[in-house]
Amino acid sequence: MFTERTPDSPTKHLLGSLSAMAEAAGIPAPLTPDQLGPDTSPVAYETADGVAYVTLNRPDYRNAQNSVMTYSLDAAFVKAVQDAEVKVIVLRGNGKHFSAGHDIGTPERDFNVDYPNVASLYWTHTDRSGADQRLAREIEVYTGMCHRWREIPKPVIAQVHGACIAGGLMLAWICDFIVAADAFFADPVVRMGIPGVEFFAHAFVLGPRRAKEILYTGRRFTAAEALDWGMVNHVVPRDELAGKVAEIAANIAEMPQLGLSLTKRAVNISEDQMGLRNSIDAAFGWHHFAHSANTEMYDGDSLGGMDVHSMRDSAK
Ligand code: ZN
Repeated sequence: MFTERTPDSPTKHLLGSLSAMAEAAGIPAPLTPDQLGPDTSPVAYETADGVAYVTLNRPDYRNAQNSVMTYSLDAAFVKAVQDAEVKVIVLRGNGKHFSAGHDIGTPERDFNVDYPNVASLYWTHTDRSGADQRLAREIEVYTGMCHRWREIPKPVIAQVHGACIAGGLMLAWICDFIVAADAFFADPVVRMGIPGVEFFAHAFVLGPRRAKEILYTGRRFTAAEALDWGMVNHVVPRDELAGKVAEIAANIAEMPQLGLSLTKRAVNISEDQMGLRNSIDAAFGWHHFAHSANTEMYDGDSLGGMDVHSMRDSAK
């Protein structure tokens, strides 16, 4: 996929069929790399001074992530990786919040839409049911995409403001580091009886004891706390956030592209030697045990009787 692409390349055909399937289901199609622009939704894309700005752009839904957003985000990362002029990627959110998490309640929730897999070699979830279906879908759009994006061979900075909740944490955590302003974070999915979001990096980014407190209580934690705990690199006033990120990106862009890529790989390998990837994949099994236990206990509801409204009402 990262070799030479021509107008007739397999990538183009794959993205074309993605669009057709989404449209057939009445959902706006995922954007292809060629379609992405400064004002496109659910993901916007622009470049300036060697930096690609990838913007989550469903502000009316607090940038909740449906699969159309996930595949559009992947297209944006592909575009940034392929553009030799891009040295650094910034991931940010339009509107009041970075991301409220995975889409579990908007009109464009597309759980049942079939998209050809990009991140995993696995069977199609829409052909399956129950635990088999849930695992097939989450291997692709959650852990698969996050493992794939963590390996993007260019530096990726998360520019986070407002809410960064549950699946929002997954997006911030696959970035190389986080710069935040007026931000708050939480993983409240233990309320669903589930041990945290699918990309279980909590113990690595928070430290095990803080991870336990945050998971056990489901409480919000502030950008200042996240800074103190080492999850966030910088906290700045809201009106200085974009400037701070641009300043760091400009400094990184002075470095040689291959050196940056190899350095990122070396640090990621170090984290994996400490067990990051294995921990995520092991916890993912317990995550799916929880989905299945919920399905047995809550009349077929793998989310344990919680929805977007009850989750929001229970947030502190
Ligand atoms: Zn799940």
